[in-house]
Amino acid sequence: MSYIVIILAVLVLLNSYPLLVSQNLVFRSKQTSMNSSVKMIESSLSGLAQLTTENVGQALSDLRETGVSRIIVTDTAGYVLYDTRETGNAQGMYAFYTEVAQALDGNDAYFCRYDSEAFLSRCAQPVVYRNQIIGAIFAYEYDTEQARLLQSFQKNLATISVIVGVLVLLLSVLLSRLFTRQISDLLQAIRSVREGAYSRRANVRGTDEIAQIAAEFNSLTDRLQTTENARRRFVSDASHELKTPLAGIRLLTDSILQTDEMDGTTVREFVTDIGQEAERLSRITEDLLRLTRLDSDNVDRPAVIPVKPVLERVVRMLGMVAREKEVSISWEADDRAVVMTTEDDIHQILYNLMENGIKYSSQMGFVHTAVTVEGEAVVIRVEDNGIGIPDEDMEHIFDRFYRVDKMRSRQVGGTGLGLSIVRDTVVRRGGTVAVEHRKSGRGSVFTVRLPLAEGGEL
Ligand code: ADP
Repeated sequence: MSYIVIILAVLVLLNSYPLLVSQNLVFRSKQTSMNSSVKMIESSLSGLAQLTTENVGQALSDLRETGVSRIIVTDTAGYVLYDTRETGNAQGMYAFYTEVAQALDGNDAYFCRYDSEAFLSRCAQPVVYRNQIIGAIFAYEYDTEQARLLQSFQKNLATISVIVGVLVLLLSVLLSRLFTRQISDLLQAIRSVREGAYSRRANVRGTDEIAQIAAEFNSLTDRLQTTENARRRFVSDASHELKTPLAGIRLLTDSILQTDEMDGTTVREFVTDIGQEAERLSRITEDLLRLTRLDSDNVDRPAVIPVKPVLERVVRMLGMVAREKEVSISWEADDRAVVMTTEDDIHQILYNLMENGIKYSSQMGFVHTAVTVEGEAVVIRVEDNGIGIPDEDMEHIFDRFYRVDKMRSRQVGGTGLGLSIVRDTVVRRGGTVAVEHRKSGRGSVFTVRLPLAEGGEL
C-alpha cells in the first residue's frame, strides 16, 4: 500500500514541478526580452529634454518591430503621449498602471502572470534626461502561443501520469494477488502437515523468497515424513515382536489348563517354556528402552573410559555361554585405547558384537576381539568364523528388528535390536561401525571406530 502512495506522490511531483520550472523560465525570458525592447525605445528617446506627443511620435515613427504587443510612453504625470494599440488607444488619457507609477518613481518594474490561457507580462522603465525623470515607457504583452505550448506540455504530462498510474495499479493488484495466492498455498500446506498429512507438499514455483521458504518447508516435511514412517514401522515391528512371546505364553498356559491329567514333568517343561518366553519379553523391552533412551537427548555424561578393563569383564560374562557352545574367545587390547563415553555404552557395544559372534558361530568356532589405537581413533575389531552374513543383507543388519534368519535369531534368543543399539550408541559417541566378510574363510568382521579421548594415555 505504502509504495502506491509513494508512486502517487511521484506522479503529482512529475505533474507540477516541470510546469513550475518551465513557467519560471518563460517569466524570465519574457523579462529579458521586454526589458531589451523597452531599452531600445528608451535609446530612441534619448536626447529629448522633454517628452511631448509630437516628439515622441516622431522619435518612434521609424521604430522597428519590437515584438511587444503594446507600448505606451507617458510624461511625468502618467499622461499617455504615445500608444501602439489601435483599438482602444489610450493616447491623451492617464495610464493607471502600478508599473508606470513605479517607473515614474525611478524604478524598473516588471510583472508577469500565467492564467492557463496566456502569459500576461508588463514592464515599465523611467525615461531619464540628465538625471531627471521626464517620463515612463510601459510595455505590455499578452502571449497565447507560449501558453498553448505549456498547456499541451501539461496535457501530455497528465496523460502519461494517468497511463503510468493505471499501469502501476494494475501491476500491483496482479502482483499482490499472486503473492497472496502463493502465501495461502503455503499456509494451506503447513496446516495440512500440522494435521498429520505428511505427504502434502507446498506447490510454489519460482525463485523468490516465498518459493525458497516453500522449498525449505518441503524438505522439512520430507524429513518429518521419513521420521514418521520410521516411527510407525518401529511401533508396528515392536508390537509384533512383543506379540509373538505373549501368544506363546498364552498357548502354553491354555494347554496346561485344558489338559486334565498332565504329569509333573510335562507341566515343568511347559512352565520352563513360559519362563523362556517371559525372559525374551523382558530382553525385548530392555532393548526397546535402551533404543528409546538413545533416541532422546537424555544420554549420560561421557567420561574418559579405558576399553581394556571393560573388555575383560565382557569376556568373563560371555565365558560360560561360549563354553556351552564350545566357542573359544580370544582377545587383545592396547592399554592406550581410551574413549570419551560411558562404561555402560562401551560394555553394550562389546557385549552385543561378541555375543552375536558366539550366537552365530558353529561349534568349535572362535570369536576374536582386538582393541587397537590407529592415529586418532580407537578401533574395536570383533571377528568370528561363524555362518557369515549374505551380501544382500549386509546393508540392512543394523536396521531395527532386521534379521537374516528369523527362526535362527529367535532360537538363539535374538531380538533383532542388538546391532541397531550398537550403531546408535557408536554414532552418538561420534564413531562409525561397519561389517565385512572375513578375508580368510567363513565368518564376519565388525569394525567400530571411536575417537581417541584426548590426553588418553593413562
Ligand atoms: P539379533 O538379536 O537377531 O542377533 P542383531 O541386531 O544383533 O539381532 O543382528 C541382526 C541380524 O544380523 C541377526 O539376526 C543375524 O542374522 C545377523 N548377524 C549379526 N551378527 C552376526 C554374526 N556375527 N554372524 C552372522 N550373522 C550375524
